[in-house]
Amino acid sequence: MPFDLNQEEATFVETVKSFVATEVLPFTREWEKNTAFPDEIWTKLGALGLLGMTLPKEKGGTGLSCAAFVEVCKQIAKGDPALSMNVAAINALCTAHFDHFATQEQCDKYLPGILKGDIKLAWGLTEPDAGSDARRVKTHAVPSDKEGFHLINGRKMFITNGGKADLIILIARTSETALSAFFVETNQPGFKLEKRIHTVGVSASNTVQFSLIDVVGWHTPCTFEDAIGLLYRGRLAIAAMALGIAEKAFELTVEYSKQREQFNRRLADMQSVQNMIADSGMEIEASSLLLQKGAELFDQGKPIITASSYAKLYASETANRVTNRAIQIHGGRGMTHEFLVEKLWRDAKLTEIGEGCSEIQRLVIAKQILK
Ligand SMILES: Cc1cc2nc3c(=O)[nH]c(=O)nc-3n(C[C@H](O)[C@H](O)[C@H](O)COP(=O)(O)OP(=O)(O)OC[C@H]3O[C@@H](n4cnc5c(N)ncnc54)[C@H](O)[C@@H]3O)c2cc1C
Repeated sequence: MPFDLNQEEATFVETVKSFVATEVLPFTREWEKNTAFPDEIWTKLGALGLLGMTLPKEKGGTGLSCAAFVEVCKQIAKGDPALSMNVAAINALCTAHFDHFATQEQCDKYLPGILKGDIKLAWGLTEPDAGSDARRVKTHAVPSDKEGFHLINGRKMFITNGGKADLIILIARTSETALSAFFVETNQPGFKLEKRIHTVGVSASNTVQFSLIDVVGWHTPCTFEDAIGLLYRGRLAIAAMALGIAEKAFELTVEYSKQREQFNRRLADMQSVQNMIADSGMEIEASSLLLQKGAELFDQGKPIITASSYAKLYASETANRVTNRAIQIHGGRGMTHEFLVEKLWRDAKLTEIGEGCSEIQRLVIAKQILK
């Protein structure tokens, strides 16, 4: 384990590993085929404390350090990247939002159900015309007759778990220049699922587009910058997902290269294959160190803007290179559904796009360096 975790956290990670080995990895193909997780996955995640990892124990959460949180996201990705993506977003963007920006009344109403997995969550920023340029959000909120509540109109797309969510943390415009966040219950007549979006990877994840017509949203007292600031730890979690994908593909490939023989020798004995394995090993190690640095800075209460972009950018591009090489080393078999590497290759792509594409990570890094 790369992180120096305390005993309690190390034990927690071991429990997660067992859970992944018995309840996640064996079903990853089935979930992809069904383009869905089983409904009971949420209560299982809740029972293990995986829905409150970023919430302090005093508030009912698991209260993990960032180092332990990202290690858990990595371990889940080794079993099912789509599930890791959901766990990452729910903890870093949704539960953390409660920790930082929800009122006591809002916490009392929703948190007990959230932590048990009875209230399913999603985080809604992206819109058809507001992707990388998140400030272009058109969905707007106007105060309603009831204090603290707004009426919201607009459309969101690419929302993870959006079709299953009972509650969405939604970013909407409150004036020409200001945006904020709202809790939106999805069981309202004006909340309309428009379509399920099927993706090339992470297919078990319920990605959707929905519209909002005079939907009631409960304002959470925060600015756009506050809400978006949660993305920094979120990017570490996506880096962890990427690292889990890369590590899994690497382990499978090293094993395969030792078994398969051509030209009377193992693939592992061929120098071109060794070069690919060496490059993948090095890039995984570097990704792990960048992730570790970001998590440590977070745990020390230091800024992580650059560190989280470094980790996400490098780990996501590593995951794509490593899974590509993994298929190459598996040859034709690597392109078949009998071997997991093709799925990991498809799942890896999301990590270069979600929570800020690679080009945006480079912009963030350059801005910090050049300021
Ligand atoms: C499976 C999946 C799950 C997702 N889950 C969520 C979710 O739960 N909640 C949510 O709010 N969003 C979610 N998203 C949306 C995701 O965050 C966006 O797709 C991402 O931010 C990119 O926005 P876009 O797709 O509109 O691409 P665009 O913004 O249209 O960008 C397209 C491409 O243009 C280039 N580009 C864009 N801007 C720049 C620039 N300034 N400089 C250089 N190049 C640039 C990049 O190559 C980029 O990939 C999800 C997306 C996917 C695919």
